[in-house]
Amino acid sequence: MSEVALKLDGLTVEFPTKRGPIKVVNQVNLNLRTGERLGLVGESGSGKSMTLLTTLRLTPHPGRITQGKVLYQGQDLSSLDTRSMRSLRGKDLAMIFQDPMTTLNPVYTVGEQIREALKVHNIYGGKSLPWRRQARRQAEIGRVVKLMDEVGIPSPEERYENYPHEFSGGMQQRAVIAVALSCNPKVLLADEPTTSLDVTVQAQIMALLERISLERHTSIILVTHDLSLAAEFCDLIAVMYAGSIVERGRVDQVIDQPAHPYTRGLLNALPRLDGNRESLQPIPGEIDLAELPEGCAFAPRCSCAREKCFRVQPKLASIGNAHWVSCHLQGGES
Ligand code: SF4
Repeated sequence: MSEVALKLDGLTVEFPTKRGPIKVVNQVNLNLRTGERLGLVGESGSGKSMTLLTTLRLTPHPGRITQGKVLYQGQDLSSLDTRSMRSLRGKDLAMIFQDPMTTLNPVYTVGEQIREALKVHNIYGGKSLPWRRQARRQAEIGRVVKLMDEVGIPSPEERYENYPHEFSGGMQQRAVIAVALSCNPKVLLADEPTTSLDVTVQAQIMALLERISLERHTSIILVTHDLSLAAEFCDLIAVMYAGSIVERGRVDQVIDQPAHPYTRGLLNALPRLDGNRESLQPIPGEIDLAELPEGCAFAPRCSCAREKCFRVQPKLASIGNAHWVSCHLQGGES
């Protein structure tokens, strides 16, 4: 079995509010092995993106880690100083953000923005002597052109000089992926990388990410609200609700034998090509982190809820073969 590249160990992130601290990420445990692809799924506000940002120590102010840790290749990232963390970010752990238009800087060419990561991490060395600087520049540009080609940007030498607004949405997303891949990261955190794209471009981008993961053994966490996308792309799925993982397992376990009512709700809300609109069953209500019950966070929206659910928090427990669920209906607790 391959080694664990990234481990989230009881990770908890809190934000102070007028009504007291709110846990936006709550006791999250995840293991990601080399080359594995994990889908982190759930509705907006379930804590998926915050989990990724916190993994890179980019938790927005005033949020902070109050419990747990992030381990990269066994090293606790909270023990690193700012400089060491900055050198790890982009080089070992890289992130693809949701919206390429806000990720790319409109006043720099796309090629220069991809090259920036190589410069920051001094991938080709040679800062001192002028001839070395020139050689380094040539090496960096060569690498950027190769990367642009690799991610499917046509005529990369010419497109190097283009500005982001001269790229289509799909091409911008490819450029963002090229930035993330520039230093050959071991772990890629992809936050809804295809949300703003049409379905054919989405398929191309996902095929590209799959190829990268297979060829480079890159571990990927894909954050998405689209369970069908995660099912197609990932080996493992973790379902998040109100900051907590409520179900975790292999794709076939979670999709074919969903054990948590919330996972079943997400699956029932998926549009199907062979079905009619009436067959869609949305989950009633929405996540309100400020108004969670004492017991199961999903209880106010759960059609299976019983009295105990509102009082006692279910624990994430194994139901066999590394399939984990937090629900009183599982494991004979109710
Ligand atoms: Fe529903 Fe109760 Fe299970 Fe929570 S513990 S998901 S409320 S049945």
